[in-house]
Amino acid sequence: MPIKAAVMTGPEQAIELWQLDDPKLEPGSILLETVASEVCGTDVHIYHGRLAGVPYPIIPGHISVGRVLETRGVEADSMGTPLAPGDLVTFYDVHETCHACYFCTVAGQPNRCPSRRVYGITYSAHDGPLGGWAERIYLKPGVQTLKLPEPLTADDVIGGGCGLFTGFAAVERSDLGMGDTVLVQGTGPVGLSAIAFSALRGAATVVTIGDPAARLELASAFGADVTMSLSDVPPDERDTMIRDLTNGRGVDVALECAGNPAAIPEGFKLLRDGGTYVIAGHYTDVGEATINPHIDINRKHADVRGRWGLDFSHCYRALRLLAKHHDMLPFARVIGGRYSLDEAGEALADVEALAVTKAIIAPSPR
Ligand SMILES: [Zn+2]
Ligand SMILES: [Zn+2]
Repeated sequence: MPIKAAVMTGPEQAIELWQLDDPKLEPGSILLETVASEVCGTDVHIYHGRLAGVPYPIIPGHISVGRVLETRGVEADSMGTPLAPGDLVTFYDVHETCHACYFCTVAGQPNRCPSRRVYGITYSAHDGPLGGWAERIYLKPGVQTLKLPEPLTADDVIGGGCGLFTGFAAVERSDLGMGDTVLVQGTGPVGLSAIAFSALRGAATVVTIGDPAARLELASAFGADVTMSLSDVPPDERDTMIRDLTNGRGVDVALECAGNPAAIPEGFKLLRDGGTYVIAGHYTDVGEATINPHIDINRKHADVRGRWGLDFSHCYRALRLLAKHHDMLPFARVIGGRYSLDEAGEALADVEALAVTKAIIAPSPR
């Protein structure tokens, strides 16, 4: 039976519905029936052509949850949990890193491996159903899978999507200390995840700056102690509030999860001397920011760190915590819209307009 897929044919081109042939299953491969895939900010940027190396036409949807339809000799997920048809799994979208190049072996940076491919981003739709905006997803041999731990549902995971894992990775990259005051810039899925994992890791105070109001309410539900509206609270008042909270010093850790260059100068300004600033929200090139190297970095002894993409380890460990603390990470509540494949263009537009915090593509809507 052909596979229906929503295809992004090129930057700014209308999403098309294609019929793809069922893939021939190679030994070690898995065929999933897509339960839910995400529409994230990165998909909006890819739609506008802001990520280099995207081989349009593509089937978007890098983080997805599917039900195992059949496998060719795969009896367990990548961590050894038994896997059978009907099980819900998610998978690490990055694939085909070579484990042999300089970046894989010497630098320990597989995300910079030139062989690296990513489901939903760097595979052409001509290569097969290798993105989540399709009725079925073909997991090539070697794709790293995780069976969803109890009691997680597809919505619990896809409500956060890649943001769930990116927020986790950003908090870890910061080496946040117990009792620290943390600023999370941005209240999209990455920011919400960073808020919750900061609280779980032991932050004494989590402050967030974001918009719109509905996302600030979610931020509180995810554990933010103080929320400030980007549009309603002017920058000088945000500065005053942070100084008041920190005896004038600024925050110990700032996590940029906004994906907007305008956040960067403010993040530096609100960081205390010797604090750590993690830039995690800029997966694509959305432009430049101006900082003052002397004031913002040098004199401040700022520790500035980048976090782009994920390791499989982030997915595995974030899911374990999500399963244990899913009441603190209520991602199913973040889903603002459920779209069929025919409605993928609408989903993109709604995410771009911030009409929904997380849009999901459910090829067979319930
Ligand atoms: Zn490599
Ligand atoms: Zn994403």
